Amino acid sequence: MTPLAELLTRRIAATGPITVADYMAECLLHPRHGYYTTRDPLGAGGDFITAPEISQMFGELIGLCLAQAWLDQGAPAPFTLAELGPGRGTLMADLLRAAGAVPGFAAAAQVHLVEASPTLRTCQRETLAGTPVTWLESTQDLPDAPLFLIANEFFDALPIRQFQRSETAWRERQIGLSNERLSFGLSAPAPLADLDHRLADTSQGDVIESSPTAGPVIEAIAYRIACHGGVALIIDYGDWRSQGDTLQAARAHEPEDPLASPGLADLSAHVDFEALAKAAPDVAHSRLTTQGVFLERLGITARAQALAAKLSGDALTAHIATHRRLTHPQEMGSLFKTLALFPHGTPPPPGLNP
Ligand code: SAH
Repeated sequence: MTPLAELLTRRIAATGPITVADYMAECLLHPRHGYYTTRDPLGAGGDFITAPEISQMFGELIGLCLAQAWLDQGAPAPFTLAELGPGRGTLMADLLRAAGAVPGFAAAAQVHLVEASPTLRTCQRETLAGTPVTWLESTQDLPDAPLFLIANEFFDALPIRQFQRSETAWRERQIGLSNERLSFGLSAPAPLADLDHRLADTSQGDVIESSPTAGPVIEAIAYRIACHGGVALIIDYGDWRSQGDTLQAARAHEPEDPLASPGLADLSAHVDFEALAKAAPDVAHSRLTTQGVFLERLGITARAQALAAKLSGDALTAHIATHRRLTHPQEMGSLFKTLALFPHGTPPPPGLNP
């Protein structure tokens, strides 16, 4: 048993089953044993790889997209350039290098990173050495200023609750004990007003998910964009509406049972983009667009060709593979989606439709 499994087993034995959201929060962010708190999951020998770690093209195109949106909104200065869950800091470094070519952008940008993990903050400090950066605990602490924000694979790490439909009520999926080991169970059925709208498109036994923390995060972002202007780009795996159990664990690039090794495996769930858009009625949102289409519209093929011109042999083969990996429907191209939030009455950022 992992040290965190022992702690959770004792806690559940003493006070009863916990929700999936409580379990995820402990596994990811427990101060001593949490997955993100204690390690760099993206480094060499890590557990998963993300788009900015696959190729510099990803961060560069995000940077140019945000810089064009900033120009389109009259180049406000100063403005907050924010990233949620910046991992190793690679995306922000690539973004700043590319957007730095846009006159005035770098001078007006005040970089804010929302990061819970001390280990990853250290990594970000090294990657972004030379750039003034402010770290924040929460999106509630973002300055009251125009906000241009990127969140890549952040929302999938936020804890989710899971509910299984039982006639016209819902049973919450919980983690309890069976033979002194962690195991899934269900609460007694209860009607839940917040889930009434899901009675129309689910039937007995279906599982749906909701994130209690995503709403407040989005509200804080949307408030700043509505008051001061800006854009939020949210990129993640998921779909317009949650349907089914998507809780997943990954360790050393392989899926595993989410209860197998708490604190040692990454836990995530698909993002319900409809819930994010609904939490932000004061701003407009783009159509949900696949990552492949979004990156192609931003010009990834032209950028890939420009980089390819300087490469040969294995480096060229590897570079071509990264373009495919980011955009091909059978790789990350269709599973990952992009949603933008922007002020009512302004056009969406480049690459996205209203
Ligand atoms: N965006 C990066 C890393 C994705 S991994 C990339 O694309 O490579 C998820 C990131 O979110 C990590 O940096 C993790 O520490 C951070 N994170 C997870 N939950 C968080 C929370 N509740 N608050 C702040 N940061 C969080």
